[in-house]
Amino acid sequence: MKEFTVKVIPPSNRRVWQISIPVSLFWTVHVGAGLIIIFALVDISGPLTKAALKGEIALLKTQNKSLKQNYVRLEEKLGQFDGKLVELQEICDNVLILNSLPPIFQGKENLSMGGIGLSEADDLSGVDESSMTNDFNIVFSQVELKLNLLKSGFYRVVEKMENSVQKWEHVPTIWPADGWISSKFGWRKSPFNGQREFHTGLDIANMPSTPIKAAANGYVVFAGWFGVYGNVIMIEHGFGYETRYGHMDTIGVRKGQYVSKGQYLGTMGDSGRSTGTHLHYEVIHNGKLEDPMKYLIPEENKVLRGVTRLHGQ
Ligand SMILES: [Zn+2]
Repeated sequence: MKEFTVKVIPPSNRRVWQISIPVSLFWTVHVGAGLIIIFALVDISGPLTKAALKGEIALLKTQNKSLKQNYVRLEEKLGQFDGKLVELQEICDNVLILNSLPPIFQGKENLSMGGIGLSEADDLSGVDESSMTNDFNIVFSQVELKLNLLKSGFYRVVEKMENSVQKWEHVPTIWPADGWISSKFGWRKSPFNGQREFHTGLDIANMPSTPIKAAANGYVVFAGWFGVYGNVIMIEHGFGYETRYGHMDTIGVRKGQYVSKGQYLGTMGDSGRSTGTHLHYEVIHNGKLEDPMKYLIPEENKVLRGVTRLHGQ
């Protein structure tokens, strides 16, 4: 049998102490000692691991609480945000309706965001993380959809207003001359023969050479002599509007010329079939003669003030 021999040799001539250990026993002792050390270590580290885990759990609980609070706050904020969005939707619809455009949000109340419901959960452990993420995704897509609808709503209004402004420039709203109204549009007794006749325009009287202005933007389609009108300018404004300025003295524009609202056209005169210096002003809309007064805006009603003064004298 194989053995290990351990000898102890003292310094003097005393007896040498010797022990023999079988190899198998040597390994048994070593492995056993190793196992005892391992078990001892496990026994010591056990309580240490438990403490670490306890600390970890406490930390996770705190983080969990803090996360839950953050989510609840986020949900509250989303609720407030939704309230503001609903107000904006109402404003957008009102602005659309005021501009004769169809509302976008009326009848679409189902667009309102649903709550995510975290505030009702005691902790996050009961909340399915994937369904929560899904809820938030739904809410954010609803917000995006609403914002896009709002954008399109306000864009429609801007477009309409731009068109209105453009149209406004082409509607004959400004007085074509200073002066006083010497004859209105409609049936009247003829100043020439006393017979009943239809007066096709508005007569504005003033001193010779009073400037005549374009009532709106447009193209001069006629500038020259035309029968009873004498020297006349005809302007096409677009949007179905046309204006005529008769009995003029001098003509300051040419046929084909583009004129802006208020632009000088020439001077007041007595040309054609006329009883004195005045402007015979006509408005034609969609091919029909209309009362020019219908379009003249009160703010620029210099003529009526002139009439008041005249009547007061
Ligand atoms: Zn007239």
